[in-house]
Amino acid sequence: AVDGIKGKVVAITGASSGIGEATARLLAERGAAVVLGARRTERLDALAREIRDAGGRSAVRATDVTRAADLEALVALAVEEFGRLDVLVGNAGISRIGPVADGDLAGWSAMIDVNVRGVLHGIAAALPVFRRQGRGHLVTTVSTSGLKIVPTQAVYAGTKNAVRTLLEGLRQESTDGVLRTTSISPGFVRTELVGSIEDPAVRAEAEQRMATIGIAPEAVARAIAFAIEQPDNVEIGDLTIRPTVQN
Ligand code: NDP
Repeated sequence: AVDGIKGKVVAITGASSGIGEATARLLAERGAAVVLGARRTERLDALAREIRDAGGRSAVRATDVTRAADLEALVALAVEEFGRLDVLVGNAGISRIGPVADGDLAGWSAMIDVNVRGVLHGIAAALPVFRRQGRGHLVTTVSTSGLKIVPTQAVYAGTKNAVRTLLEGLRQESTDGVLRTTSISPGFVRTELVGSIEDPAVRAEAEQRMATIGIAPEAVARAIAFAIEQPDNVEIGDLTIRPTVQN
């Protein structure tokens, strides 16, 4: 078993931009082998090339987290290429926020499919491997919007809190020392996330806040690295990373 980050095999969903991309870059710099999943494979290929050019180890697989088979294949790729999977970072997410009264059924379904089912698919794929290895670590990107509920974010926050609840339940079922679970709660982070907002007024406001107070995705990547680098018997359960000025 390895402590720290060097030598660990880490699969990351949503690695094509924002927090996932920054996390992949940081962990690879620190000696992890990173297995990159997302739908935009040209972005993943470019990142994987950059990591390899810098002397790191990486592999890529086209992954739509709404498909359970894609997560199975991502986990299988980690095992094939690097011999095992130490950490799954379930990070892929969308934020199609807006007032509940808009009745955006398609948006709600999309958020549930990606943010909740996507994480469940990762759990289903990774747990058997973690059990076989006798160790594993599940990290998910939830949100401060689940901690402080504000208008327009009810459904999004609900998906994030579903994942928070899920991880806590899993933690309580896994006190045999095999599995570590970590929920990372970012506040406003400057990424492409606002791109999934359809309501123009809500989107303009989110873009404005991100541009003025949003922190760099590397801040969240460092928090994820902190959780991963702990010794096997130390579990970082929850971490919140906000702009200092966020209310
Ligand atoms: P980005 O939009 O930059 O990144 C989102 C990532 O998720 C992309 O890599 C995207 O890849 C991927 N993704 C979306 N849908 C799917 C899908 N169906 N299958 C696979 N991958 C998918 O935003 P962030 O980096 O900000 O978001 C990362 C996580 O952080 C999300 O879960 C988000 O909810 C959470 N978060 C972000 C905050 C912020 O302020 N930015 C605050 C709190 C939480 P592709 O499109 O190529 O598939």
